[in-house]
Amino acid sequence: MKNRKELFRNLPKVDEVLQRKNIHEALNYIPREIILESIREVLESIRKDIISENISQEHIEDEIKKIYNIIIEKSKNKINPKLKKIINGTGTIIHTNLGRSLISKNILEKVVEIVSSYSNLEYNLKEGKRGSRYSHIEDIICRITGAEAALVVNNNASAVMLILSTLAKEKEVIVSRGELVEIGGSFRVPEVMEQSGGKLIDIGTTNKTHLSDYELAIGEETAALLKVHTSNYKIVGFTESVPIEDLVNLGRKNNIPVIEDIGSGVLIDLSKYGLSYEPTVQDSLRAGVDIVSFSGDKLLGGPQAGIIVGKKKLIDKMKKNQLTRAIRVDKMIIAVLELVLREYLEEEKAIKNIPTLRMLTMSLKDITKKAKNLYDLVAENIDDVEIQILDDYSQVGGGSLPLEEISTKVLSIKSEYISINKLEENLRKFRIPIITRINNNNLLIDVRTIDENDFNIIVEGIKWSINDYRSE
Ligand SMILES: *Cc1c(COP(=O)(O)O)cnc(C)c1O
Repeated sequence: MKNRKELFRNLPKVDEVLQRKNIHEALNYIPREIILESIREVLESIRKDIISENISQEHIEDEIKKIYNIIIEKSKNKINPKLKKIINGTGTIIHTNLGRSLISKNILEKVVEIVSSYSNLEYNLKEGKRGSRYSHIEDIICRITGAEAALVVNNNASAVMLILSTLAKEKEVIVSRGELVEIGGSFRVPEVMEQSGGKLIDIGTTNKTHLSDYELAIGEETAALLKVHTSNYKIVGFTESVPIEDLVNLGRKNNIPVIEDIGSGVLIDLSKYGLSYEPTVQDSLRAGVDIVSFSGDKLLGGPQAGIIVGKKKLIDKMKKNQLTRAIRVDKMIIAVLELVLREYLEEEKAIKNIPTLRMLTMSLKDITKKAKNLYDLVAENIDDVEIQILDDYSQVGGGSLPLEEISTKVLSIKSEYISINKLEENLRKFRIPIITRINNNNLLIDVRTIDENDFNIIVEGIKWSINDYRSE
């Protein structure tokens, strides 16, 4: 224990640390309070290590040697923004944990112009008086989808809440038991229903619901028939659900609106690009659904938003609901969404310019070329690494097309100096975090979800990750 006591004596005092040259310099760009806090935390943590019997003498001596760097790193961490760019090597295109859809730089440049100035957000320029923030996007949404009217709110969860609270408060809504879904991040149909004041009438069974189940459930108190897209799972085998056309007919006959939460909100026929057919927003409207709601940042490829389209009479009611004010969208979202939607005026443009659609429809030939480029760059710049291009599958993600497997090429990375798990961790902790996938003891980077402009960062990250280990 004598040595341990010596360690305590070797610990510098707070004032002494402050006077160290590099700490003193750091005061130029890090607030004093933050540096002081970091000094106290680091000293305290080393003191704890000294007392603890499990931590070796060498480790503590090493900590004391590096104390100034540790303090500066810690302080920098406290002032650096926490939300930052990462590189998505997972191949999951609409990755909810990694920010779902990307917005192109082209569009953002135009958005900067709008949001860094005053804008006509709620001002009618023609008449010189108050206007509506929703007017800017309603036209374009109606043009693309063929809807009578449209409304945009914070996200699809709030859209469903607004729809139910407007049309079904204290009334009954009929839903199939096969569609009582939970979407990641705790959107559960029964709970959303309860929140919005509607009474859930669940009918049928998990695997089968017939039209007669709906018919039998309709009564005096029925406010709507609700269909929910089972976005993130598929029930296969002995199953039956009621086609939306039949539901629409039933609704018409009984004068009850039909609502559909289609989740992803795809606006183009993806089967043209080799993917499975996913019913579009236009399909639902054409089938006669009264109100359709979907997300802005899933297959649409825009910002987080909930888009409601359908009958004007019903949407007008929603616009007047107090809840609309509480879940309204910001000007930044309106600006981005309008510009993304304008790309849809020409399908080729949408496919080319909207990152989500571009990544989704990228040909295997282009992917192969991309993988080869990354392979060459890594091979040229890093010696101690074993790389290989392998066949694999990308996923759509975001609870869209859950069973879809899109052929892709991945780069497998190995190094004799570092385990697969440690390499994954180091890449994840790189200056610009690189998120990879481990499969069958291979560390994989799917090039589909990576911008070619980031390839140099990846090379730097792999180098850093391997070296970091070797210097330990
Ligand atoms: C994703 C999804 C939601 C939630 O949408 P957010 O925009 O994430 O709020 C609701 N319903 C379905 C069917 C979905 O797929």
